[in-house]
Amino acid sequence: MLDKKSFQHSSTLFLEEGDTATVVTTQRGPEFLHYLVPKGGVTLGAIVNVPVKSKIVLGVVWSNGQSLQTSYKKKRISNVLDLPSLKIEVRNFLQKSSEYYLFPLNTALRLCLNPNLNLEKSYSKYIYQIGPEKVVRLTSQRKRVLDVLSSMRDEPIDKLELKTQSNVSDSVIRDLEKKSLLTKTLVPIKNNFATIQVTFSTTLSKFQKKVSNELRSKVKSKSYSTTMLKGVTGSGKTEVYMDAIAEAILLGQQVLVVFPEISLSTTFVERLRKRFKSGFAEWHSSISKKEKKRILNSVLDGSLKLVFGARSAVFLPFYDLGLVIVDEEHDSSYKQEEGIRYHGRDMAVLKGFYSEATVILVSATPSLETWVNVLERKYKGNILPERFGNASLPKISLVDLRTNGRERNRWISKEIVEKISLKIKKKQQSLLFLNRRGYTPVMVCESCFQMLKCDNCDAKLVEHKLFQALLCHLCGARYQSPKICPSCRNECSYMPIGPGIEKIEEETRSLFPDARIELLSSDHYRSLEHLKECFRRITCGEIDIIIGTQLISKGHNFPFLSFVGVIDVDLALKGDDIRAGENTFQLLRQVIGRAGRFEISGEACIQTYFPEDPVMKTLCSDDDEKFMTSQKNLRKNARVPPFGRMVALIVSSSTHEAAMNFAKDLTKEILPLQKYDVEIYGPADARISKIRKKYRVRILLKAPKTLSIQPLLKNILEKRKPPRAIYLTIDVDPINFY
Ligand code: ADP
Ligand code: ZN
Repeated sequence: MLDKKSFQHSSTLFLEEGDTATVVTTQRGPEFLHYLVPKGGVTLGAIVNVPVKSKIVLGVVWSNGQSLQTSYKKKRISNVLDLPSLKIEVRNFLQKSSEYYLFPLNTALRLCLNPNLNLEKSYSKYIYQIGPEKVVRLTSQRKRVLDVLSSMRDEPIDKLELKTQSNVSDSVIRDLEKKSLLTKTLVPIKNNFATIQVTFSTTLSKFQKKVSNELRSKVKSKSYSTTMLKGVTGSGKTEVYMDAIAEAILLGQQVLVVFPEISLSTTFVERLRKRFKSGFAEWHSSISKKEKKRILNSVLDGSLKLVFGARSAVFLPFYDLGLVIVDEEHDSSYKQEEGIRYHGRDMAVLKGFYSEATVILVSATPSLETWVNVLERKYKGNILPERFGNASLPKISLVDLRTNGRERNRWISKEIVEKISLKIKKKQQSLLFLNRRGYTPVMVCESCFQMLKCDNCDAKLVEHKLFQALLCHLCGARYQSPKICPSCRNECSYMPIGPGIEKIEEETRSLFPDARIELLSSDHYRSLEHLKECFRRITCGEIDIIIGTQLISKGHNFPFLSFVGVIDVDLALKGDDIRAGENTFQLLRQVIGRAGRFEISGEACIQTYFPEDPVMKTLCSDDDEKFMTSQKNLRKNARVPPFGRMVALIVSSSTHEAAMNFAKDLTKEILPLQKYDVEIYGPADARISKIRKKYRVRILLKAPKTLSIQPLLKNILEKRKPPRAIYLTIDVDPINFY
């Protein structure tokens, strides 16, 4: 994916009035447009407004234009915004990412500049002070305004604050202005964040110190490198990479830290506060527009040194990025599956490459991709071998569900029940893990044995007690249990098959009526605030039994937790997904790693129908290396990533025929790629053949690792655009195959 050749070089950095500039806009449409340079000239990378049809749109001067294209009358760049230019490394990164994932450059630029934030406008605002006129008589409203202003002495105040403090409307303030009882002045806004107080950890262990030093010297080298930082949960990976952050900031560079999920960043904020006090910012979809504008401006001019957040932060236009950290790098939620598809971790590495920055990939259970890159010496590997302090790793035992005698409709084995009772007596916590939302995951008709399915999707319905409904997890549609079975038309009732997390809660409450129990799944938390409150209660020991889905599996330190019970894992599905084994392994290691992180030692018990599976064996034996080697061989033999390339094309439409016909046409166009050793599978109905009333057909391409398939594919796709009402999704390096 890294390829120096595509670096853009340009002979001139400055274009004079009358020159032609090639501009990339944030609008859909052609990627490159040509404009005349206005008076005063522009630099490459300048952020500009340009006319497109009858609209003015935001764009960036990409390169000096082709003087050949003079056959039509060129329009002029409308104006150059008073903002720092986009650095060449940012432009190269955007261009490469759009070429790699086959989305338009305009889309990449939109993700980078967030045109809806109206960047430049934030650079100034009006502030208010007492005016020169003498006060005669005043209404109570006007008096309130002037009181607020005089209470400020000579400190200016902005309009919003003035309005809220004095509780008046705009018109009152306008009147006072007209009468010169107050004055307003336009001032530049300071976007500035506080300066970070750089400190290094003073309590590192011998191993930690060694790794910290290595990471710090990478940062000091100010050149590109990627390092895998592996270490069991609780070994101090975060503690150590915070030293690398401190080093970069000391050198005046900017730092980006990304997380797979925002719920993880809540605990990270606390740690940052402890170490650096203030001067950092959080970036993800729940951040307000106003704050985003402030962040974007300060990232662009280099004044904000530390940003952490979701994968979308990789698109931010940093001024001088020195360090990129990807926490929980193996996590599959780094892959964006809606809209444009990209992998947050891979983009972070690309970002680091173009910014000539240090990249650190952090995990207790690195992805196979990363592991192979270390073996091939593309990445450096650093390992923290033990837990910090007195904490030891949990002891793991298996319960064989095939032979374990449980009562009918009971899901928690007596082994787990006994452990929990013991822990409650010792005033310690237990965690029950099941990665299935709802009460019953599958409902089957008692007479014809067909599953209840969604009308819009090819998906089973899940019974949720919380919503008192049957839910489709794909489209969110809610249903009441039908009186008549849609399949056999008999009046019937339904058999529940298997437990969801709500059923486990019910069973736990009946087993431990006096225990304090907290259920955590994405359905059960109402807001980030609520989630934080749950974590606080758990951390303070106000909860005895935590029941959770994968929401609970990562990032958090629960000091009283000493037992993890795994109810079941979906190993049965592993047939068609090359990563199923690896992902289950990573998830379980992570969940089990929650236990015994501090003084108390931990234990774990896994219930499973597959005690012989290599995943289970590895979990009990700690021989990660052997497991990873077997996974590696599996993928090597199948010529799949990281040993080959894959691109999935997903065609969808409201009729099956339309989707299939277009997919067939497309496949014909792609066939010539076979001469480059590309294997073509399909078109075939997707495993989930319908989502949200759209039928889905897939084509899968497998190519040799050495082939750069994207430009070839781009050529074909440009000639064969989907007609109206047919949608084409391009998924480069797919990780889901449904
Ligand atoms: P990881 O990121 O590998 O899971 P953390 O950095 O979160 O590990 O460390 C686990 C716990 O141990 C945290 O509470 C952390 O504050 C503590 N810890 C780890 N290393 C040190 C250290 N050198 N000094 C003080 N506390 C440490
Ligand atoms: Zn549905």
